[in-house]
Amino acid sequence: MLGFFSNDIAIDLGTANTLIWMKGKGVVLNEPSIVAFDRTTKKIVAIGHEAQAMIGKTHRDIRTIRPLKDGVIADFEIAEGMLRAFIRQISPTWQPARRIVVCVPSGITEVEKRAVRDSAEHAGAKEVHLIAEPMAAAIGIGLDVEAPVGNMIIDIGGGTTEIAVIALSGIVNDESIRIAGDEMTNAIVQYFKKHHNILIGERTAEAIKHQVGSAMPLNEEIQVEVRGRDLVAGIPRMTTVTRAEIRDALAEPILAIVEAVKLSLERTPPELSADILERGIMLTGGGGLLRGLDERIRRETSLPVFVADDPLTAVARGTGKVLENLPLYSQVLIKSRRY
Ligand code: ADP
Ligand code: MG
Repeated sequence: MLGFFSNDIAIDLGTANTLIWMKGKGVVLNEPSIVAFDRTTKKIVAIGHEAQAMIGKTHRDIRTIRPLKDGVIADFEIAEGMLRAFIRQISPTWQPARRIVVCVPSGITEVEKRAVRDSAEHAGAKEVHLIAEPMAAAIGIGLDVEAPVGNMIIDIGGGTTEIAVIALSGIVNDESIRIAGDEMTNAIVQYFKKHHNILIGERTAEAIKHQVGSAMPLNEEIQVEVRGRDLVAGIPRMTTVTRAEIRDALAEPILAIVEAVKLSLERTPPELSADILERGIMLTGGGGLLRGLDERIRRETSLPVFVADDPLTAVARGTGKVLENLPLYSQVLIKSRRY
């Protein structure tokens, strides 16, 4: 390698999706954070999209897991294996990345930071930098995070919703709750069990959420057909549901998110509140795509609310921007503690 190319990378290791940005190239990988592995040998048999296709369809020797499911790394060994496999996928013949910038939830503990750092080092990094997710999201959508102006970001991922107020390159306050996209999907599964006596798979529930889920009544009140297994007869069955029913199913997790946003606003210093009133709240993360969620938050807070362009890649784009110009962004990185 002539130093011409760099294999420095930025990673958004999300609970639902992993995105990798390669220096000078942009996003080169975007795959579900899912691993299929052999229960006895613990060897990884598939990752990403390929592993996702296996969910709910594996036999007894193969198991699929989401190693980051509950916000932070839930299964170190497997998360590390997944990260390594993804890195290999983008650069099969290259040297290990020299520098890696990884984003982490803002509420992460020292021990958890250490674990993420170790994983990146084991994956070959010589230099690891950490950045808080809401900071990365803010940079990714082009906010001027260094200005003495308050910005509020709500990042709704799979496992966590992070609500942060950012000003002067720092996070002024943040709320992190473990209620986000997964809870919404799970609420749909539970709804079908309770009200339709039918068990549906996680992927089916997620597809319903994307296609008909909403946080507000909409003009177009459609119906959809859903297939699952009858809880009593045990045989496959089809049922139909309305959009209004799915809205009921989602009511609880959405309320929890709205409450967390209100709490965060209450904790925001008044000068920054004034900025937010003027500039509004930005929604990022896949959960931000839920229909009517922006409108719902707008009504509950009386503030302007915007869904960022391409919310699913906001964090990766921000982490990438930081990687592209580390000296410029040194202020926004999480200060590392030496051991
Ligand atoms: P993470 O950062 O935790 O990996 P993402 O930001 O990638 O999460 O968002 C993933 C979540 O967004 C999933 O729960 C997914 O179901 C949800 N999601 C994606 N698209 C939509 C949509 N159109 N409507 C509602 N939820 C969505
Ligand atoms: Mg995320």
